[in-house]
Amino acid sequence: MKLTFLGTGTSTGVPQLGCDCEVCTSDNPLDTRSRTSALVEKDGTYLLIDCGPDFYQQMLRNARSVAPSMLMLTHQHADHMGGIDDLRPFCTPQGFKVFCSKEVHDDIRRRIPYSFAEHPYPGVPHFEIHEVEQYKPFNFNGIEITPLRVIHGKMPIFGYRVGKNLAYLTDASELPAETIENLKGIDTLVINALRIEPHHSHMSLSESLEAIDLIKPRVAYLTHISHQLGLHNRVERRLPPNVHLAYDGLHIIIPD
Ligand SMILES: [Zn+2]
Ligand SMILES: [Zn+2]
Repeated sequence: MKLTFLGTGTSTGVPQLGCDCEVCTSDNPLDTRSRTSALVEKDGTYLLIDCGPDFYQQMLRNARSVAPSMLMLTHQHADHMGGIDDLRPFCTPQGFKVFCSKEVHDDIRRRIPYSFAEHPYPGVPHFEIHEVEQYKPFNFNGIEITPLRVIHGKMPIFGYRVGKNLAYLTDASELPAETIENLKGIDTLVINALRIEPHHSHMSLSESLEAIDLIKPRVAYLTHISHQLGLHNRVERRLPPNVHLAYDGLHIIIPD
C-alpha cells in the first residue's frame, strides 16, 4: 500500500496569508504546506482521505492521471471538505462514493445543495453517500477500513484505519482509550501536530509525541502543521528516530 501526502498544512495553509515569519517566507519547498489530505493506493484502487480547498492543485501536482475510487471524510470543517465540487470528473451516473459520519453527510447537503436538487443543473457533482459508524469496519474493494473515534476540541470526528498497517488521524486534540487500543503496535501512524504551544482543538507537538509513545507504531508521520511549528528542517532534526514531519508530495510505502 502506498500513501501520498497531498497536503500537510493546517486550515490556513503555510505560508499563511499576510504573514512574513521565517517559515512563511522560507524558500525551502518543504515549508510550503497545502491543506491536509492524503491519497492511498492499493492494487490500483485509490482512496482519498479528505478533500480540502487545495484538492484540484494537489491532484495536478501529485496524481494528475489518477481517478480516486472513493472519498472518506474525517469531519465537516472547510479545510477538509472545501474541494468536493472538484470531484466532478470522477462522478459516475450513480455518484462518486463518499464514506462519512451522519453529521458530515448532513453538512455535505448544506454545502452543495445544488447537487441534491430535484432537477439538478447538468454537470453538477453526484455523490453516493455511505454513512459509517465508529469502530464498525467496512470493506471497499477488498480493503478493510475502520472509522475511529477522535476528539477534535469538543467534537467527535473520525480517523481511519486502512487495512492492517495504516492509521490516519488528523485534527485530533484527544484520543479515546478505545482508539489507542485499536492502534497499539500498528506499522504506520499518521497523526496531526499543529505547533509547539497547546491549542484547544489540535494536539501540540509534545501531545502528538505522547500519543505516539502510547501507540508505539513502527513509524509515525506528523501532519496538519501550522507555520508556528517552525522550519521543517529544524523540527525534523529534533524528532525521535521513528517520527518524521510529513510534507506535501511525500510518498510512503506501507507493508501489507
Ligand atoms: Zn483541519
Ligand atoms: Zn478541523
